[in-house]
Amino acid sequence: MAATELDVQHYDLDLDYDVARRRLVGRATLDILAGGGPDDIVLDDIVLDLRGPRAKAVRIDGADAQFRQTKGELVIEPVAGPNPGQKLEVEVEYEGAMGTPVDANGTPFGWIATSTGAQVLAQPDGAPTWFPAHDVLTDKATYDFTVTVPRGMTAVANGILGGHREEGKRTTWSWHAEDPMLTYLATVNIGDYDLQAATGPQGIPVLNAVSRDLDRQATRDAQEALGLQPEILKFLADTWGPYPFSAAGAIVNDADLGYALETQTRPVYATTLDDSTIVHELAHQWFGDSVSIATWQDIWLNEGFAVYSEWLWSDREYGARYGATVDALADDVASRPKSDPIWKVDLAAPTRAQLFDRAVYDRGALTLHALRRTIGDDAFWELTRAWARTHAGGNVTTADFEHLAEQVSGQDLHTFFRAWVHSTGRPDVSTIDLSRVRLS
Ligand SMILES: [Zn+2]
Repeated sequence: MAATELDVQHYDLDLDYDVARRRLVGRATLDILAGGGPDDIVLDDIVLDLRGPRAKAVRIDGADAQFRQTKGELVIEPVAGPNPGQKLEVEVEYEGAMGTPVDANGTPFGWIATSTGAQVLAQPDGAPTWFPAHDVLTDKATYDFTVTVPRGMTAVANGILGGHREEGKRTTWSWHAEDPMLTYLATVNIGDYDLQAATGPQGIPVLNAVSRDLDRQATRDAQEALGLQPEILKFLADTWGPYPFSAAGAIVNDADLGYALETQTRPVYATTLDDSTIVHELAHQWFGDSVSIATWQDIWLNEGFAVYSEWLWSDREYGARYGATVDALADDVASRPKSDPIWKVDLAAPTRAQLFDRAVYDRGALTLHALRRTIGDDAFWELTRAWARTHAGGNVTTADFEHLAEQVSGQDLHTFFRAWVHSTGRPDVSTIDLSRVRLS
């Protein structure tokens, strides 16, 4: 069996974090379905990603296994060649000194140790900095988190809070994420948090964790923005279809990394929090977290919908009073000159350095608006809701989106997508009257 056919079904992450020493001791227990391929394929090595912390011991179904860790990979030799389709329990004990990993642009990502705790924002490939992960976009799993921290501190993760118990100078927090989740969307945040529970639309349990280390103004701003969260969830559900998960909430941190991330069910926010950021990260629960892209090159499908959701929210909240309508916001992007960097990126084929380029966000949203203008409101809403519904929990590509758009609209959209998605250069915006799109 090739390593890529691994299917991790569940991660049980038992972590102990020493905040002062920035030291993580972990035990990860993975329920793996070893196979899924043809019956005659024999299991080879099990290859997981683990970059930073060192593996100390590995067991398969309770028996010690041989392993080696090189170049960010943990290669485990099966104890005895298991049959394809067999379920394995792989247990990895590991530990490491945690720091502040940065990506090619100098942005911190992965497990980020701070003076007051830790936060995890792992897009695109930061998960292996804190647990042995099958770090691909096509393998979702459920998670249990058991996190031991210095007494008085709080550990916040995805999903539902199981509870906490105090023992000596340590407190252990447990969380359960029952909605299958990609590795980069898993998060654990450690700090001094105020936990606030509420009930959202559809009866969804909402749990917010707001750092007590924020200054007074930032705390006020965060509380004001979070007060809109139930309304934003309802707005997004009315727009795209039912909220896809069983829990919701927010984590607001004191250490400002300059960006937020759509960690599943509970996005991580920086100190400065406003309603449009919440709209953006919650929209990702539908587009990115539930409907997940198959390769990072398709990231415009995540960011385009997230930014377009911001435009729709702005239109509703501020459109009439401040002129911030969806049309005005689309016009603002469309009217950027031909020399603007956003026209230099092929939306369906960004380089790794371009993954988080403004083009992916702004041109992505504009492309959705242009599509709406081209196929009309009825077809657009039918398309986007069908997209969220039929691909919930799965993986998609740009080709899938194009196919569904043609199917729903009954139009040949080859020329449209070639101009808006598969090209560098500014599309001929004059052929699409962006100003005449109307909300319905
Ligand atoms: Zn985003």
